[in-house]
Amino acid sequence: MSMTTVDEKLSVNKYAVDEEVPHIVVVRDADAAEFDKLVTCCPAALYQRDEDGAPTFDYAGCLECGTCRILCGGTIVERWAYPRGSMGVSYRFG
Ligand code: SF4
Repeated sequence: MSMTTVDEKLSVNKYAVDEEVPHIVVVRDADAAEFDKLVTCCPAALYQRDEDGAPTFDYAGCLECGTCRILCGGTIVERWAYPRGSMGVSYRFG
């Protein structure tokens, strides 16, 4: 029996990225402990640390689940909104 991974399931979704208006903004110099919560909890793995340990975030690929808003909306997530118009994720199931 073949198993489908989460990455494979996510790869069938389509994303229309709003290059002009980021729907999620993280503060500069984010608190490390707060940022690492999001590294652990974002289901799309958009919060990461590079090889030097510096925090990185790219809103492209966001699943609009709201986890980062719930965990850090009062701390390091400065802005959280749904993408404009027809932008954002379109879920595909297959
Ligand atoms: S809304 Fe969900 S998928 Fe999007 S960045 Fe936040 S935790 Fe990740």
